[in-house]
Amino acid sequence: MNIALIAHDHKKDDMVLVAKEFADFLSRCHLIATGTTGGRLHAEAGLEVECMLSGPMGGDLQIGARLSVGQIDAVIFLRDPMTPQPHEPDINALVRACDVHNVPCATNVAGARLLLAELSRR
Ligand code: PGA
Repeated sequence: MNIALIAHDHKKDDMVLVAKEFADFLSRCHLIATGTTGGRLHAEAGLEVECMLSGPMGGDLQIGARLSVGQIDAVIFLRDPMTPQPHEPDINALVRACDVHNVPCATNVAGARLLLAELSRR
């Protein structure tokens, strides 16, 4: 299973927390992440992660491109709803690509836990 992981700066601690909770499952998946998120997941949760560019430099778009050709099965995208992001169009493009291709996308911690719990049961 190919899972994409992206977290905005104020959500990165939450991403590490959730990743640790599901580390057994995630360690059996191919993980792809935006640059800074991926670096933290590797350093703090011990996960192997294929890192793309940082989000503001195009990482979300790289993940969206893979998703659009069927190479991503689920997305955990912990967005910060309280802080304007310079790459808002890229964020919207990735979430739109999830909807276009019917790929599950969790945008908050509660949704991430539900999605990972379900996927890990399969
Ligand atoms: P980052 O990118 O993991 O490189 O910080 C996330 C984002 O801001 O989209």
